[in-house]
Order: sequence, then structure tokens, then C-alpha cells
Amino acid sequence: MQTTIEQAARLFLEQDNILVITGAGISADSGLPTYRGVGGLYNTGQTEEGYAIEDILSIEMFERRPELTWKYLLELEKSSRGRRPNAAHEALAYLEKKKKRLWVLTQNVDGFHHMAGSEKLVEIHGNLHRLSCTVCEHEEERDDYIGLELPPACPQCAGLIRPQVTLFGEALPYEATRVYEREMNRGFDCVVVIGTSAVFPYIYGPVVEAARHGIPTLEINPDRTELSKIVRHFLPGKAAESMLAIRRIFEEANS
Ligand code: NAD
Ligand code: ZN
Repeated sequence: MQTTIEQAARLFLEQDNILVITGAGISADSGLPTYRGVGGLYNTGQTEEGYAIEDILSIEMFERRPELTWKYLLELEKSSRGRRPNAAHEALAYLEKKKKRLWVLTQNVDGFHHMAGSEKLVEIHGNLHRLSCTVCEHEEERDDYIGLELPPACPQCAGLIRPQVTLFGEALPYEATRVYEREMNRGFDCVVVIGTSAVFPYIYGPVVEAARHGIPTLEINPDRTELSKIVRHFLPGKAAESMLAIRRIFEEANS
């Protein structure tokens, strides 16, 4: 059902345990391209090498041709370089401080929720700014990839360096999965999904489950997705302006 900003804001005001699931759409308002949907980088399917982006960003390709995977990881990093979290990331970090329990589950690897100050945060696909060696224990944080020779070699053992992001065909990171499962088991009384085409089961699963159990669900997206049919509230809008409006109503009600 199409909803209003006021109805959407009421969920944030009334519910104590809120799960917010985000995808590339929330960072689109910071100027980052999405994969699919409005403004998608890869709507046309193939890269200039003739591979699908999913094949290039896969663990098989990384093991066979790390320079090719790195080329596209660099593209992703470049697209976020110099960009900042927007009003939607900031509103979520603000609401987390005000609510009893608000968790953000993101598929984004740009690190923007972390930068905005979200702490109850699961980065289920990792973060491009954290690099580690595939051979030894070496780890490093980088603001950007400027000056990196691709594929980068470990300063300690000369092994291949990779970003701590989940490549296609790879298991999800252990610690993020542990926190994800723990919080899902505790349960939520409201599930909000912002800017994702929701192709992964661990992303659409909590929304489908909540809808099935009559738990309120809200989707914020300028376009309809597979989830739009099942959520209780669909807010057709961009992430930043919608979350800013919700934050204003929340602040007004709490002043
Ligand atoms: P997606 O690209 O598949 O879908 C993006 C969704 O966002 C679409 O439904 C689109 O309609 C919506 N959207 C576009 N502009 C919006 C806006 N201003 N406000 C709200 N919604 C908007 O993204 P996804 O579902 O996150 O894709 C899955 C994969 O893409 C993930 O593995 C993720 O790691 C990766 N990815 C990450 C980033 C990032 O870190 N910022 C960017 C691109 C892709
Ligand atoms: Zn090493």
C-alpha cells in the first residue's frame, strides 16, 4: 500500500525494535551509482571484457585474474571517492541514538553508515576501506586506493592483498553473520527496507518473514521492487529526502 511520510514516521516513533535494511539506493543520494534500477552502473549487463560484473567480482576470477577483479574494485572505490554519507545515513545514525534498539543491515561496501556514526551496524558484504593479506595476518584501513599498485602486494610477505568485501561465490564474513543471526533471533517489531533490489535471501528474508507474521514493514524506493507487493507501507521516494522528512517529524514529536 502506498504510504505517506507521516505514516512512515509513525513507525519510527512507535516501534522500539527496528531493523533497517539498506542497499545501493541509499548511497545513490551521495552520488554513488547503483548496480541495478534507477541510475544503475550495470543495467546493460556486460563489462568491456565481455564478462558479467558478477563474474568479474567473483572469488573464482579473483583467484585466476586478480588484476581484473581489482580493476573493478578500483572503479567501485573511485565512484565513492570524495563522497560523503547523506541525510539518510545521518538520520539512521540519529534515530539509533534515540531508539531503544535500531539496527542497520547494509549490503553497501562504501562504509557510509559507519562514517555517519551508526554503531548497531552489520556490513554483511564487508567494507572496501579495509584491506587484508590473503597469505598472512596483515590488515590495513585505507581512505581510498590512491597510489595502490594493482594487484597490491602485502608489505610484510608480498602476498596478494584484497579488500574485506564479499565476492560473488564466497561465504559471508563470519563476524557479521554471527551478529546478524543473533539479532534476527532476538526479533524486531518493525522492518524497513531502503534502496535495494533485494536479490539475496538474507536481505529479502527478514522482510518476507515480518510481512508473514503481521509485523509492520516499510519500503522506501523511487521504483517498485519484488518487495513492494508484500510490504505494508510503500513510500515512493528517494532515500535522503524521505529520511530527512521522517527525521524532522520525529524531532518535532520529541521536542
Ligand atoms: P541494486 O543496485 O541492485 O538496487 C538499487 C536499488 O536502489 C534499486 O531498487 C533502485 O530503484 C533503488 N534506488 C535508486 N536510487 C535510489 C534513491 N535515491 N533512494 C532510494 N532508492 C534508490 O542495489 P543492491 O540491492 O544494494 O545490490 C546488491 C549489490 O550491489 C550488493 O552486493 C552491494 O554490495 C552492491 N553495491 C554496493 C554499492 C555501495 O556500496 N554503495 C554500490 C553499488 C552496488
Ligand atoms: Zn602478507
